[in-house]
Amino acid sequence: MQICRTIAEIRAAVAHMRTAGTVGLVTTMGALHAGHMALIKAASAHPNVVATIFVNPSQFGNASDLNSYPRTEDTDLAMLKQAGVTTAFIPSVGEIYPDGDETIVETTNLANMLHGLTRPGHYRGVATVVTKLFNIIGADAAYFGEKDYQQLAVIRTMVRDLHTPVAIHGVPTVRETDGLAMSSRNVRLTPADRSAAPILIASLTAADALLKSGETVETTIDAIAATIASQPLARLGAVDIVDPITFAPATGKPNGPVGIMISATFGDVMLIDQKEVTP
Ligand code: AMP
Repeated sequence: MQICRTIAEIRAAVAHMRTAGTVGLVTTMGALHAGHMALIKAASAHPNVVATIFVNPSQFGNASDLNSYPRTEDTDLAMLKQAGVTTAFIPSVGEIYPDGDETIVETTNLANMLHGLTRPGHYRGVATVVTKLFNIIGADAAYFGEKDYQQLAVIRTMVRDLHTPVAIHGVPTVRETDGLAMSSRNVRLTPADRSAAPILIASLTAADALLKSGETVETTIDAIAATIASQPLARLGAVDIVDPITFAPATGKPNGPVGIMISATFGDVMLIDQKEVTP
């Protein structure tokens, strides 16, 4: 596996691998786990796979969250190599954000609703860095986790609007055996908070059953909030039930698929989870 740290290196590597076929891309912030590996596996439909590791400062709301983000480069590289990744791209912040950098990319509605309200600037930071990585690498296809439900929609919207020549694929959420969605942030949970965190999937599973039994969106949202409130270590951030394409809030008894999105904080660790349900 080749390791590139500069834009010139990765561009040369991609130009070379193109002679051997198409390129699949997986963008990560490192601290890799089985969820990331599922994306790599999906990208391995292409003869060449590029994985990026870049902890993107512009998508963090505050310096302490950015500084405490886990960084495990050696283990990450071993996992990528083991998974058969062709090339890892690990740029510095200065490589991605040149001196005087002032350009942003924003899906102006989608970035500023739902989870965007509790994380101002987050989706703008994601859209900006992913645009930069798409422009640098020029992959044929890119793979993103459905766990980050609104992020996936932001990226699909941005690619549509900017006519970016890359196919976007969503990959189902990979979970721990107790149902907690895998996340690089999980290692920051105290043992007590780790035991409490499966309340997220419990509330999503209960919500799924309620919608399928004919309950309304409003009743289901109240039930999720009550389930999260029953766990004293969890603080509910947001719960939304939305149209999976437009992200408009669903109401009443939905007559098609809806996405349920939850965020909750345990200690100082914010976790998100989602489930798509067809009532
Ligand atoms: P991150 O390193 O957290 O920025 O995530 C990089 C990519 O991995 C994103 O597309 C995430 O949605 C995806 N991802 C993170 N956790 C999971 C998971 N548990 N299952 C599937 N994909 C995931």
